[in-house]
Amino acid sequence: MKLLVVGSVAFDAIETPFGKTDKILGGAATYISLASTILKVKSGIVSVVGGDFPQSDLDMFEERGINIEGIEVVKDGKTFFWSGKYHNDLNSRDTLVTEVNVLENFDPKIPDSMQDSEILVLGNLHPGVQLSVLEKMTSRPKLVILDTMNFWMDTAWDLLVKIIGKTDVITINDEEARQLSGEYSLVKAAKKIHKMGPRFVIIKKGEHGALLFHDDMIFAIPALPLEEVYDPTGAGDTFAGGFAAYLAKKEDFSFETMKSALIVGSAMASFTVEKFGTQKLQEVAEGEMIARIKNFKELTTFEVEV
Ligand code: AMP
Repeated sequence: MKLLVVGSVAFDAIETPFGKTDKILGGAATYISLASTILKVKSGIVSVVGGDFPQSDLDMFEERGINIEGIEVVKDGKTFFWSGKYHNDLNSRDTLVTEVNVLENFDPKIPDSMQDSEILVLGNLHPGVQLSVLEKMTSRPKLVILDTMNFWMDTAWDLLVKIIGKTDVITINDEEARQLSGEYSLVKAAKKIHKMGPRFVIIKKGEHGALLFHDDMIFAIPALPLEEVYDPTGAGDTFAGGFAAYLAKKEDFSFETMKSALIVGSAMASFTVEKFGTQKLQEVAEGEMIARIKNFKELTTFEVEV
């Protein structure tokens, strides 16, 4: 096992200016693991769902080679449900419903087959749960990647600071980085977040790309300009999954490799937004992904004489 993914496996109902879905498959761990399958990297999920979660979705995970031994099914419980509505610019959204359901009392159990995972991806969840996962690992994974959100800054600050202190890479969006650090400048924000623990700080800027900070080095990438953008849900999680899977594949966690991983993560996220939910991610083949990375290279490579 290369990647251990902890996070929500959920039902989402999404509304964007282009349409609306009923309850469909969602959740942070879902997007992260599906992204890793495109690079054919073995991952396993630790999560919890209710008796209402379709067997067909569990089968789909397995068919794609995702280890689901760590997905607990609470027969008489209901699966986590999230509903959101995007504004016209697709950059911001309102959460309409969050039904925590079985996630409320989630006590993650890590199957023996996943204890030797090289990379741990802690998807957006209560920081107390993220901490307990790290504590339950018999040996520390080589790399711990953490995703979080402003909700936990407002409601579980002390635990959040604790888990950030144990993390190697944090992925966070620009608004959240400002809230976490109290700094408007993202450069200053990244410096403060470094001091909290993570050696690598990734700040996601939605359709404006992403920044990677390490020591005094900064690497910046744009987002691919896309013709079709239907639903940004899960873009951040897909990015984290693609990023982690690339590092797992290369077995190298240097700044140079992380630069490439940032591009792979971004290319994968660009697929997610092209259709609702996980649909596009389930359709993408490795070749299509490679072609998109080439586009990325052409978009960002230039020579200039000064
Ligand atoms: P993103 O668009 O990357 O922020 O991630 C969206 C996914 O996060 C959706 O599929 C939701 O099911 C999931 N999600 C939303 N809120 C939470 C939460 N409080 N805890 C865990 N997962 C969540």
